[in-house]
Amino acid sequence: MATDTITTKTVRVADHREPAFQHVDDIAAADERIAAYRARHGGRKPNVLVVLMDDVGWGDFGCYGGGVAVGAPTPHIDRLATAGLRLTSCYSEPSCTPSRASLLTGRLPMRHGLQRPPMYGEKGGLQGEVTLAELLSTAGYVTQAVGKWHLGENVESQPQHVGFDDFYGFLSVSDMYTEWRDPYFFPEIVYSEERTKWIENQPFNKCFVHATRGAALENVEEVTIPVLSRLDDMWATYSIAFLRRMAAEAQPWLLYHCTRGAHFDNYPHERFLGKSPAKHPYKDTLIELDDIVGRLVETLRATGQLDHTLVFVSSDNGPEMETWPDAAYSPFRCAKGSTWEGGQRVPGILAWPGMIEPGRASDGLFSQMDLFPTALALAGADDTAPEDRYIDGVDQSSFLLAPDGASNRKYLYYWLGRTFSALRVGEYKFMMASISDDDRDVLNPGGFTGVSQKYPYGRLYNLYLDPKETRSYLIRKLAYLESFQSGARNHLATFKKYPPKVVVGL
Ligand code: CA
Repeated sequence: MATDTITTKTVRVADHREPAFQHVDDIAAADERIAAYRARHGGRKPNVLVVLMDDVGWGDFGCYGGGVAVGAPTPHIDRLATAGLRLTSCYSEPSCTPSRASLLTGRLPMRHGLQRPPMYGEKGGLQGEVTLAELLSTAGYVTQAVGKWHLGENVESQPQHVGFDDFYGFLSVSDMYTEWRDPYFFPEIVYSEERTKWIENQPFNKCFVHATRGAALENVEEVTIPVLSRLDDMWATYSIAFLRRMAAEAQPWLLYHCTRGAHFDNYPHERFLGKSPAKHPYKDTLIELDDIVGRLVETLRATGQLDHTLVFVSSDNGPEMETWPDAAYSPFRCAKGSTWEGGQRVPGILAWPGMIEPGRASDGLFSQMDLFPTALALAGADDTAPEDRYIDGVDQSSFLLAPDGASNRKYLYYWLGRTFSALRVGEYKFMMASISDDDRDVLNPGGFTGVSQKYPYGRLYNLYLDPKETRSYLIRKLAYLESFQSGARNHLATFKKYPPKVVVGL
């Protein structure tokens, strides 16, 4: 049932947990649904499939207004959205690594310390954090990670040491494997023997790898450009084999499938090359990603696992505009790297036949961090979340499972590295600092290129009237000021008891 998000109070159940709404009717409806599910299936816990895409925009999919309109139809993803819940205010962090670490730990980058991506073998990763994979593993799940990792190359931060039984993918990010091999981008390396040798000797892994829990990883194949174009296909095949295998097992599972695409630079698989109406590498890649979602969902259906699986499809950040036109589409302001909506508002589709009402759409706030407590709750393992650290994620199981459930999240906090940037509540976003994407001071508008700026009085945007965040509404809306400021103050106060951490900082 819808309640007013600005005036309704939240409940803080413990010092280390983010306060949340307690929608009593939704909770009762969801409890009833989950109890019936467990009774029907002998206490079975649901599987969790996360398909996390890379740098795919809020507007890319047909069900978000993209698809055919932007030269890349996405029928499989659109069908999945129709079968479940389409979130219009699903949020990532501003870039790859911070988002991925937040999704797996339920914690903001200021807590897990990965405030920007480690690049080219740079030290630092997920080590020391408690992941969803580890907790679900303790709860009896088989845990599989496939595809992009980018949460640290150091041994302690590798997937098989932070909760995953098996990993098949690469440790870093797409461009790092290929940009220096492509004469279009790096002629000064490709055509220089000295520089080619120099980069080959840099201490980062140039292969995609396989690893099993606790063991040393092994290189599968060096990621040259032709290999890169086949990665998403190979990774999908690996995940499909996992799903088929698990159909015969009694154990529930977590599959964390992270695609290579559509991060720059895109070299489409030959089956998809030139196949999108746009005929552009980014768009060709997008139709392959849609095809992969279709293959994964079809495998679940064909093996009788679809009714037992919560599927979440999302992207780790907004468009990378510094590489345009190899870039996503978003109707919002600015891009990846920024705390404008264009940086953090991403597609979010949740489906679970028989459990999530089909055809729903909601603008309720949902952070990818919320998956952590939500998946634990659905697994009946919410009491296993760590108590020695702050958890920013909010249990959204009643939002998902109640037929017309409302979000349990009141505030969305935006952090630009170590700078507190903004807070959203309802349709309002109160901003204290941001990256400027003003074309007078940014040559190529994008989140990583801009200058940082602070607003001494703050700025207020109404995201319903002004989704592009162009006009501060603050002076006409001062009645809200104290409530937004106190929301920010209470959030910042949590860092006194739970001090911030910096592993890879900004
Ligand atoms: Ca990304």
